Amino acid sequence: MEKVYYFDNNATSRVAPEVAKEMEPFFNELYGNPSSMHFFGGGNQKYLDLARGRVAGLLGAEPGEIIFTSCGTESDSTALWSALRAWPEKKHIITTKVEHPAVLNVAKLLETQGYRVTYLPVDGSGQINLEDLKVALTPETALVSIMWANNETGVVYPVEEAARITHAKGAMFHTDAVQAVGKIPINLKETKIDMLSLSGHKLHAPKGIGALYVRKGARFSPFLIGGHQERGRRAGTENVPYIAGLGKAAELAAANIEKENTGVKGLRDRLESCLLSAIKNSRVNGGGAPRLPNTTNISFEYIEGESILLMMSEKGICASSGSACTSGSLEPSHVLMSMAVPQTYAHGSVRFSLSVYNTLEEVDYIVRELPPIIERLRAISPFADGRPLFGMDACEPHKH
Ligand code: PLP
Repeated sequence: MEKVYYFDNNATSRVAPEVAKEMEPFFNELYGNPSSMHFFGGGNQKYLDLARGRVAGLLGAEPGEIIFTSCGTESDSTALWSALRAWPEKKHIITTKVEHPAVLNVAKLLETQGYRVTYLPVDGSGQINLEDLKVALTPETALVSIMWANNETGVVYPVEEAARITHAKGAMFHTDAVQAVGKIPINLKETKIDMLSLSGHKLHAPKGIGALYVRKGARFSPFLIGGHQERGRRAGTENVPYIAGLGKAAELAAANIEKENTGVKGLRDRLESCLLSAIKNSRVNGGGAPRLPNTTNISFEYIEGESILLMMSEKGICASSGSACTSGSLEPSHVLMSMAVPQTYAHGSVRFSLSVYNTLEEVDYIVRELPPIIERLRAISPFADGRPLFGMDACEPHKH
């Protein structure tokens, strides 16, 4: 295979070699069911305990507060439905306009089932205002769910303060920390956060494994009903290899957190500043807010993110576009729309998300290859003379 310049780690990340090695014995030798009475299966319980301890360690939590799930989406759904079952008389939830669909689409469904949902707005830098949260909270509020970091822009939200405000009003607080875990330090012991979602494949474990933190003593109602696994909090035979992998990934992430916030951040900053100075009419979305160290979302005016992605892909560069153009609607992402990014920029956004596996040479390759791509696209863009992008007038913001 040609060299891959992988800058799409917020979409998914490579499985660390140490993680793959940790998982391997559970496919071939240690394949027993941890619920079995015999030594062969039951003996695997200790590997679940080891992984639980490692994940708890990364979060500053107790092992008993960690429930293994199948993915970030399952953790989010579990958290939302659990809070609503725990407080059946309360019919209001609060979230933000910029959540991942794993939260937003549950909120939308809840609106059709008699719940009132408040979607907190964000400012031009993508940040929420905690005053809006204070105003929105009522005795009717069962749950506040605010992501720790945004997957598209990397903007980090003040969830610890939001959890304090929420608790003071008697509601539960959940955070979708799928993009934050492993990238910024987290110490749940010092917070009022009741539930936190994470996903293995964003931190160098495989796809298909996640976890939900549930604070000791918090009311909880399981999402999957069945066997007694996970102390009755998540039924289904434990995915031992993947849980072991997630444990190892958590241990590695804890060891790498410093590197993530120096080395990875340094590469991100270099990529960002070099591209901004080499390409005129470009801007960083969310640049004015605190951000994850690995993410930059850059818009190039007058061209479409998808065209940039395709041309970068020909050069072996993998990144993401900020707009959801799959339906052909040319609709920019709900995150950028919520931030009121100007239309001529919103369509031309590209997200680069780095990891500890990226190198200076890879960053410099992009800095070399991207400016001529933008130049070529602008030369053939019918919009570069200032006329609006095709279809833009029909472009409605998402209604979340
Ligand atoms: N929440 C956020 C912020 C995400 O970025 C993602 C994945 O992109 C998810 C939830 C869903 O995680 P999973 O793919 O493990 O279901």
